[in-house]
Amino acid sequence: MSNKVQSAVLGFPRIGANRQLKKALEAYWKKEIDAETLQEQAKDLRARNWRLQADAGIDHIPSNDFSLYDHVLDTSVLLGAIPARYQFAKQISPLDAYFAMGRGRQSDTTDVVALEMTKWFDTNYHYLVPEFEKDQQFALSSAKIVDEFLEAKALKIHTRPVLLGPVSYLLLGKSKDSNDKPLALLASLIPVYVEILTRLKDAGADWVQIDEPCLVLDLDQDALVAYRSAYNGLAMVPEIHLLLTTYFGWLGSNLETIVALPVAGLHIDLARAPGQLDDVLTLWPKDRWLSIGVVDGRNIWKNDLDASLGLVEKVIAARGSQRLIVASSCSLLHSPVDLAAETKLDAELKSWLAFAAQKLGEIAILTQAANDGRATVQSAFDQNQRDLASRRRSEKRSKPAVQQRLRSVAAGEGTRPTPFAQRRLIQQKALQLPVLPTTTIGSFPQTADIRALRAHFKNGTISAHDYETSLRARTAELIRWQEKVGLDVLVHGEYERTDMVEYFGEQLSGFAFTQNGWVQSYGSRCVKPPIIFGDVERRSAMTVEWSAYAQSLTTRLVKGMLTGPVTILQWSFVRDDQPRSQTCAQIALALHDEVLDLEKAGIRIIQIDEPALREGLPLRASEWPAYLAWSTKAFRLSAASVQDATQIHTHMCYAEFSDIIDAIASLDADVISFETSRSDMELLDTFAQHAYTAEIGPGLYDIHSPRTPSVEEMTGLLRKALGVLNANQVWVNPDCGLKTRSWAEVEPALINMVEAARQVRADWLPERQFGRCP
Ligand code: GLN
Ligand code: ZN
Repeated sequence: MSNKVQSAVLGFPRIGANRQLKKALEAYWKKEIDAETLQEQAKDLRARNWRLQADAGIDHIPSNDFSLYDHVLDTSVLLGAIPARYQFAKQISPLDAYFAMGRGRQSDTTDVVALEMTKWFDTNYHYLVPEFEKDQQFALSSAKIVDEFLEAKALKIHTRPVLLGPVSYLLLGKSKDSNDKPLALLASLIPVYVEILTRLKDAGADWVQIDEPCLVLDLDQDALVAYRSAYNGLAMVPEIHLLLTTYFGWLGSNLETIVALPVAGLHIDLARAPGQLDDVLTLWPKDRWLSIGVVDGRNIWKNDLDASLGLVEKVIAARGSQRLIVASSCSLLHSPVDLAAETKLDAELKSWLAFAAQKLGEIAILTQAANDGRATVQSAFDQNQRDLASRRRSEKRSKPAVQQRLRSVAAGEGTRPTPFAQRRLIQQKALQLPVLPTTTIGSFPQTADIRALRAHFKNGTISAHDYETSLRARTAELIRWQEKVGLDVLVHGEYERTDMVEYFGEQLSGFAFTQNGWVQSYGSRCVKPPIIFGDVERRSAMTVEWSAYAQSLTTRLVKGMLTGPVTILQWSFVRDDQPRSQTCAQIALALHDEVLDLEKAGIRIIQIDEPALREGLPLRASEWPAYLAWSTKAFRLSAASVQDATQIHTHMCYAEFSDIIDAIASLDADVISFETSRSDMELLDTFAQHAYTAEIGPGLYDIHSPRTPSVEEMTGLLRKALGVLNANQVWVNPDCGLKTRSWAEVEPALINMVEAARQVRADWLPERQFGRCP
């Protein structure tokens, strides 16, 4: 056996350096190109990705990491787990049936909804949740994984097919119309996996990367038993080497089970969880392969090559250099494609970064250093050290005043001095709102003309002055419109914001923006997260002018609108040279100043949106308390210095609160709005049981749907809410911002919503007056 250390990549971005996949998919959906053209473009992307990796010298190059929509959906199709509602799809092409599962399908003859979509572990990628029916059967139903292996082979590139493992696949899915746990389906699933592995072997594959990311979660006995029986079953194809691949965390006590599984190799994520190396070195047998993920697939920072080589050498010292693979920590799906495309980025900052294409080089260099000695790649290491040193020393990165300020934040800071029960009385007197006050979540339709205006401004065809004048006119129109409709608390509409994080990032120091740093979010949707590279400081007021302007136009209250510190952090690429909690606290301090400036400018209600608070939750329960402590503290730090009479709102776009209700309560916001219309107000029980006393705006209708909610529907929901909550506690609002909707949808919906509030006020609360509360 060769003693050579090998290199590997767990997956490469599918979208293409210029988002070719997005463009091709959307063109196909609009019927601008045919299926054959789409498939050709996809094939071309795959070939480019393989070529890039081969040219970089990667030994284990993945195939089947590509997907036209989502790799979990691909797995469902591969296994024949296609819910009955897609049976109609027999009449359409397999490709259209696939997209129907991904995005739903509406035509004269069909109307089916897509599979449910949810976040892939703690990333910002979303997968389509496998749906299992009563008596679910599985059968090998797609040749994609074999075809793509052969496609690469035809290009003379020998690949390692990637397959989502059976236990993770089931754990990520849901049983519909039965109470059976998905794991109960394991026995019927294994024969199909055996068949897939056999086909791959027949096609010439020797290694298969079998992804079991669920192994980094807290697993119960049932799951551990399932792992044993699944992998004993898969061992029936002995000619195939299985690389059991784990990422996004540490294995912990699951390692004992893993060691007993008959697999040829194990991949661990040392970027996310370097602390697990010692246990793995102790327990993982030397006669089996070990793949160490040392190049982070989830961030954009250059690898510290010397530190990584140190890990590689530690492994070699413990087990020798045979059966060792140096790899990306996880799929590179989560990083942007190619830094070379960034022509406008500050040169120094750019020298600190590595996107997917650059990470290939890092893996190759580390592997070569391990095999032939560091001296053979001396110049690469030298350059790396210079770049890292420049980052460490850079003044761009650090603002002593910000650090000083953070250090001097007093322990008690971030606590509102007056308890909510008293604040409520003060606010009621000051704000004079009716019971069941009506409001919206902030944004109003970003129509084509607003987007065109912004495009003209960005490319210089209209001046900043003209741009602002036009937006002001829109804002003024919106204020008049809200008055006419009869809303109680108005918003300025957020017309000046393209994106709720970008808008703030652009005005804060320490943030940088790429031209092309796109990352797939789901299907054809990509996001371009800002990069937080340095200490965060507010240069000047960010929103005060817009809010004050809007407030100057009306005697009603206008709500100021900010994105919260946790959400700004969560939707950015975050610096890795200090704890996330510290970066979050810096953002919080910047927002703290903004909140006070808004208050000074006469804004008496301020909403701080935290839609991403929940998605920052760590994968392991043991880490929840620490996360919830610093994240809620950051929120309070931004909000808590206002006067008692100033009302702080927050907004969250989801309805799962039962497990974090204490944390939500600890935000100490005066009002919280969130999504609930789709769950029929059921989650309000959580608030009632918790004896949550602050005010609540349960979203009365689903803004994600184009349909108009009727007055009756909303009075029904409102009465339901009043059955659980105190009448003085309830606000009336949609469940999220209206940015993506058209005016034709928003207008009737809000008119109905205000009418619903009016009716319920009249028939439920005739005797109630302002300020008359318990
Ligand atoms: N204020 C934001 C808006 O209305 C909130 C968006 C969100 O919750 N994602 O657009
Ligand atoms: Zn929302």
